[in-house]
Amino acid sequence: MSLPLERHGQCLCGAVQLDCRLDSLAVSACHCRTCRRWSGGPLLAVDCAQPPVIGGGDALAVHASSDWAERGFCRHCGTHLFYRLKAEPYYAIPVGLLEGSDWLLDSEIFIEEKPAWYCFANQTRQLTGAEAIAEHGEQD
Ligand SMILES: [Zn+2]
Ligand SMILES: [Zn+2]
Repeated sequence: MSLPLERHGQCLCGAVQLDCRLDSLAVSACHCRTCRRWSGGPLLAVDCAQPPVIGGGDALAVHASSDWAERGFCRHCGTHLFYRLKAEPYYAIPVGLLEGSDWLLDSEIFIEEKPAWYCFANQTRQLTGAEAIAEHGEQD
């Protein structure tokens, strides 16, 4: 496996395409209330330390979900495309957009906000929101 990995993805309607360069196949699950409201469930995402190349940008809409972060979506089909920080080039890309089936779910963040009615069987590192922010920058 050569790094960085190039992975392609697109929204449901195909209007927006993403090309991501990834440093690993690691997937994290975010259980925070904002992600669960945005996604309808925990957000399964890969870290992207550089902005993805986005095609079809005029179909892209962005919602400021906090003072420090934004969430992108397709204005035609509503597919969620990314979470990004405003102050640094950090993107989290919902892994379901991307091609490939070799992902590794290895961490869960905002574990203290996870509701009791579901849990993953994967062996993961479990971080609180404060621990995740200390490692990766702010969320929400
Ligand atoms: Zn779309
Ligand atoms: Zn979250």
